[in-house]
Amino acid sequence: MKSEVSNTDTYPVMEHFYTLQGEGHHSGKAAYFIRLGGCDVGCVWCDVKDSWDASKHPVLHTNEIAQAAAEQPCNLAVITGGEPAMYDLSDLCNGLHDKKFKTHIETSGAYPIQGDLDWITVSPKKFKKPLDETLKLADELKVVIFNTSDFEWAETHAVKVSEHCLLYLQPEWSKKEKIIPEIIAYIEQHPKWQLSLQLHKYINIP
Ligand code: SF4
Repeated sequence: MKSEVSNTDTYPVMEHFYTLQGEGHHSGKAAYFIRLGGCDVGCVWCDVKDSWDASKHPVLHTNEIAQAAAEQPCNLAVITGGEPAMYDLSDLCNGLHDKKFKTHIETSGAYPIQGDLDWITVSPKKFKKPLDETLKLADELKVVIFNTSDFEWAETHAVKVSEHCLLYLQPEWSKKEKIIPEIIAYIEQHPKWQLSLQLHKYINIP
């Protein structure tokens, strides 16, 4: 793992908690979630709007975050938000690696990735486009499907990721009854895609 000079060793943290990853390739795995405050992407259907204003959230030192994570028996940390890539995550990733964690990030891709991330999930948003350089680094592309026109939009991003990148379509929660059958039909016709469900919402965990 590379060692990097960090511009910051503190981060606004909206919440950090132990749960199961509910989405994408690592769905079902125990994970320590670190939700950073601050986001300027502005998705209308955002379910964590309280995260948007970073100044509302306590600023924690890497050591404090990593130590809290290390009190749990898992070895997977998910850095999410908000938009976590607004920050230089080098120090946080290094602190988590020192505690033997794998570092995962969930980002809209709107910012360059800074830090030693072991798994990069890019979930592009229409409200602030992902950077091509970030899409190229993605290990999984997770596109939220809100309506039928989003399939075409998903394909415009699929051509920008690397060959090893996994491709997921995920129903927007409030539209799931209508859109899941359409996603199933689309994946049957375009089997490079896989279905991602928000498992944590079905089983009512954070
Ligand atoms: S990028 Fe994420 S946190 Fe930011 S507005 Fe969109 S859904 Fe909400």
